[in-house]
Amino acid sequence: MYKTLKVAILVIILIIALVACKGWQKPVESENFLMGTIISQRVYGKNAQKAIDAVNRRILELEELMTVNRSAGDASKINEMSGKSLVPIDQSTLQVLKKAVYFSRLTGGAFDVTVGKIVQLWGISTDNPNVPDKQEILDSLKLVNYEDIIIDEYSCSAGLRYENQSIDLGGIAKGYAGDEAIRLYKEYGITSAYINLGGNVVVLGKKPDGSPWRIGIQNPRSSNGKYIGIVEVADKTVVTSGDYERFFEKDGVRYHHIIDPKTGYPSNSDLISSTIIADVSVDADALSTSTFIMGLEKSIDFVENLEGVEGIFITKDKKVYATSGLRDSFRFSDESGEFEYVEKR
Ligand code: AMP
Ligand code: MG
Repeated sequence: MYKTLKVAILVIILIIALVACKGWQKPVESENFLMGTIISQRVYGKNAQKAIDAVNRRILELEELMTVNRSAGDASKINEMSGKSLVPIDQSTLQVLKKAVYFSRLTGGAFDVTVGKIVQLWGISTDNPNVPDKQEILDSLKLVNYEDIIIDEYSCSAGLRYENQSIDLGGIAKGYAGDEAIRLYKEYGITSAYINLGGNVVVLGKKPDGSPWRIGIQNPRSSNGKYIGIVEVADKTVVTSGDYERFFEKDGVRYHHIIDPKTGYPSNSDLISSTIIADVSVDADALSTSTFIMGLEKSIDFVENLEGVEGIFITKDKKVYATSGLRDSFRFSDESGEFEYVEKR
């Protein structure tokens, strides 16, 4: 009897030690500049460094395929051959294009990767941003139509129906890269990891101590990374689109990087930030860009009706709204005191 008790106590001590050990694991951290942004990773487990290296290599591969700044990439080839022929593309680009068209349809064209020419005209992410001539915008607007994206799955190729049409995958490629990161972490046997691709956060599992990851929602008017609240998640992605991410100012007007495909101008809805919480990052990326354009009223209803998708929206008049599924996981906490949480609508 005494012996059994001793063994039981020993087993309990061992279990506690193991759990504590797991909870105290030291992560491997990495910061890298890829896809035009800072990518940070925090990964736990035996193969953490290997997994991080594999993810960095994969993101570089995806950047080369999907950025319009590399002439050998799929996006550039599609643009170059617009109106002429389909071009063979990588499976990953095909997946991203299929998602892009799906979300264009779902959002009534708020999301539209054929805004490429307009994005170029504004040059917001370049060293020479400028307000284009009105006529130039109107001319380029005629080239914007996601229905002109031709995808041939059988031959794994894609193209654009008319000459001079142009795609820009900047609103969705990082989301896909985030999903790929999670796929690779799993391949390396990782069960707990965090990656942030310039505002697109994706987490695998919970933290090693069993608690959820706490993701800060950036204060869109603070230059030093202050938060307006925190959302607790596990196995989820948290993606934000905001007018503070890339912009320039001229004559007191802020021109940001999210283009309303209906006007050709930076979207002028009542939102300054739109966050989507979902299971799949490529979906959240497309949805955060589109809800930002759609504005508060439409976006709340739209997201409430999407299974497994939640949203946090911040308006120009500094009010913060969250969809009903976040009641328990989102905590509003605004140090600046400038924002107001509108709990019930
Ligand atoms: P995000 O930061 O994910 O909201 O994406 C913004 C980026 O997506 C811009 O820098 C453009 O490259 C691209 N983009 C801008 N407007 C749109 C739009 N209406 N639909 C799809 N992509 C867009
Ligand atoms: Mg996006």
